[in-house]
Amino acid sequence: MMRVRVLVFVLCLFYALTGVSLQAQTSGSPSPSSESAQAQASTTQQKAAYSLPPEKLARAVAYSRIRVILDFAGSAWGILQLVLLLALGVVAKMRNVAVNLSKNRWAQGFTFTLLLLIASTVLDLPFDMYGHHAAVVYGQSVQGWGSWAWDAVKGLLLSFVFGGLMVMLFFWVVRKSPNRWWFWFWIPAMIVVLITVFVAPVLIDPIFNKFEPLTKTNPALVDRLEQVVARGGIVIPPDRMFLMKASEKVTTLNAYVTGYGASKRVVVWDNSVAKATPDEISFIFGHEMGHYVLNHIPATLAFMGVLLLIEFYVGYRGVRWLIARYGANWRISSQNDWGALVVMLLVLSVLSFFSEPIVNGYSRMHEHEADVYGQEAIHGIVADPAKTAQQSFQLLGEMSLTDPNPSPFVEFWSFSHPSVGSRAAFAATYNPWVEGRHPKYFTK
Ligand SMILES: [Zn+2]
Repeated sequence: MMRVRVLVFVLCLFYALTGVSLQAQTSGSPSPSSESAQAQASTTQQKAAYSLPPEKLARAVAYSRIRVILDFAGSAWGILQLVLLLALGVVAKMRNVAVNLSKNRWAQGFTFTLLLLIASTVLDLPFDMYGHHAAVVYGQSVQGWGSWAWDAVKGLLLSFVFGGLMVMLFFWVVRKSPNRWWFWFWIPAMIVVLITVFVAPVLIDPIFNKFEPLTKTNPALVDRLEQVVARGGIVIPPDRMFLMKASEKVTTLNAYVTGYGASKRVVVWDNSVAKATPDEISFIFGHEMGHYVLNHIPATLAFMGVLLLIEFYVGYRGVRWLIARYGANWRISSQNDWGALVVMLLVLSVLSFFSEPIVNGYSRMHEHEADVYGQEAIHGIVADPAKTAQQSFQLLGEMSLTDPNPSPFVEFWSFSHPSVGSRAAFAATYNPWVEGRHPKYFTK
């Protein structure tokens, strides 16, 4: 998705949302082990559980390097561009254009939002384009530039409409409560997050991808998945299972759980159905079912809510401090100035970068739980759950060109999932049905 989203507020919020789509994909890792001997042993196990032939390995290492550089350089550039826009007086100019255009606050707010979105889109374009180019070159994406650009335009329009509304609300709250807006804005912001997560599967996701009921495209698979559901002792009606036509854009495999309440659903990418065996899909589905059953979406929303409140408070202090110190240079007089939005985004961008290890560590914990659940869920349904799970990770890793030996620091900082190698190694050795041990989430 577009990095532009990160830049405007809501976009901070939207960004939080994309993180809530709990994806069963690759990447990620646990914190590095402290015992070096233990680390050595687990590294050997990981190599055995997930490995690539030499040529593919070279491509995976090269592609991972590009992704890591784009990720960190993109974050740094996201922060630097806000500093430059402020320091070079571009933000003040945008504010003047908006204010001179009309006396109407709505016209001013939406004009300022539009100018800012255009600026950040243009400044991010080299990174976004190179990222797409690399994905195509390394066989991860089959999306043409026209379709890619159209997705970017749709993202921009959504950001403009919803970002503009959030900007209006933000400044209204700042005017009403100059010293407590960090709290009073947090409440509607959380309500917007909750509404967005609820409607996203129905209203936003279909703007970017096509979905069909899984019963319509793959009725036999639904029967198989209902066996897994039945073992979980829960109810996921077939009409809550969807197939996403990912193959029009990417070659990678995935499945995810999204929404809550009436919109809660499991989505399987058509690539997964095409390339994985029914046993492997059962495991991938079991993992997603784990997120569903273990209520990871509400838990993540609560976690993000607390984090957002802290970030808003630090944002409030940061905006005041920065305007007192640099406001004259930046020609931004107070927190009521439209330009203060960029100061707030600057503080939030820095905070969001430094909170990545916390958010990702939390996510990795959920992913591991879902892995355990998925493996337990297919016990008695597939012949050898450990082998099926390990093979699924091998397939996911291969299809996504995942580096079997990622840097521990990069894993710690930016992986939302444990590394494929460690997931595969865990899966290959996880067998609680022997030696009188018990599964974690099932009675047998
Ligand atoms: Zn997951």
